[in-house]
Amino acid sequence: MAGVTLKSVRKDYGAVNAIPELDLTIGDGEFCVFVGPSGCGKSTLLRTIAGLEDLSSGQIVIGDTDVSHRHPGERGVAMVFQNYALYPHMNVRQNMGYALKLAREPKAMIADKVARAAETLGLVDYLERKPAELSGGQRQRVAIGRAIVRNPKVFLFDEPLSNLDAELRTRMRLELSDLHKTLGTTMIYVTHDQVEAMTLADKIVVLRAGKIEQVGTPLELYDNPANRFVAGFIGSPAMNFMSATQGDGGLILDDLNGAHLTFGAGVAAGKPVTVGIRPEHLDLSPEGAPLTLRSVEQLGGVTYGYAILPSGGEFCVDLKGRRDVRAGDTVHLNIPQQRSFVFDPETGRRLQ
Ligand code: ADP
Repeated sequence: MAGVTLKSVRKDYGAVNAIPELDLTIGDGEFCVFVGPSGCGKSTLLRTIAGLEDLSSGQIVIGDTDVSHRHPGERGVAMVFQNYALYPHMNVRQNMGYALKLAREPKAMIADKVARAAETLGLVDYLERKPAELSGGQRQRVAIGRAIVRNPKVFLFDEPLSNLDAELRTRMRLELSDLHKTLGTTMIYVTHDQVEAMTLADKIVVLRAGKIEQVGTPLELYDNPANRFVAGFIGSPAMNFMSATQGDGGLILDDLNGAHLTFGAGVAAGKPVTVGIRPEHLDLSPEGAPLTLRSVEQLGGVTYGYAILPSGGEFCVDLKGRRDVRAGDTVHLNIPQQRSFVFDPETGRRLQ
């Protein structure tokens, strides 16, 4: 068991600077998720921790040990990949024990560790099967088992559920969460899927262009996003953003027929701002600003209405349960102050 500290970590691929300079501390036993859009550097960061990529500069400490220039096998980490990377000619038992065999561990000890991992992962009945005879979820469990038997200080997961269908992904997410509770080992997990990040993480690290945008618990990021990028990335359906202008008293929502809000953004009158509100935090009220819906999604327990704002952005309303609302209907919305965010439209910085 060990925490992980990244100090001024920088990674260049030739002329491409993938990670400019990054500092991060991951606590011992923490489930830390790196999340961000494709190309933001999350895999690079994970592979750098694993030692699969050389650091350009900076330092990586696992536990008390500076592993910055150590071979991957000497870092005390085990990595699980999206594509499982199992040996097709070996059965489950052999795949799971292979790293231990290479390390020349005694046969009885290997058998014991494989048996215990198979028990934890529900693979006892599949030990003699080859990967081709397993489902995607079972293959990924074998890949995780192969990591468990090595008893690493830190598990590294690179989008491990992306190849699975939606239903299986949900189930495996719960299994991974249980596994973390059982093992109590530090886990670092990379995904582009914010739902995975929200449901698995103790700590989420939101990345963009190799830089950390914000670090926090899932609900800290949801309740208190530092900027528009994090606000728009965390939460599903995504936060709505509207063009507005600071008026004399409060904000004027240019995107909602000039509706007046009773609160301001603390900026000079006339200054344009962006107001953010999550679909689930809009109140339906006959006195509210009118919005005509262009489409409606009925999901049974939830109904979402969608509109396109004059500024071009999409707007989503959670219509609160089952509603007889159709495309073309007009709803009336209140924007509650305590649930609203205000951002600088140029920098994305949060103003309120
Ligand atoms: P993510 O995992 O968030 O999708 P990556 O870590 O794979 O992002 O990539 C981060 C950036 O580094 C991207 O701009 C990508 O094009 C670049 N990159 C990744 N691997 C290489 C490589 N081997 N050579 C050159 N550039 C790379």
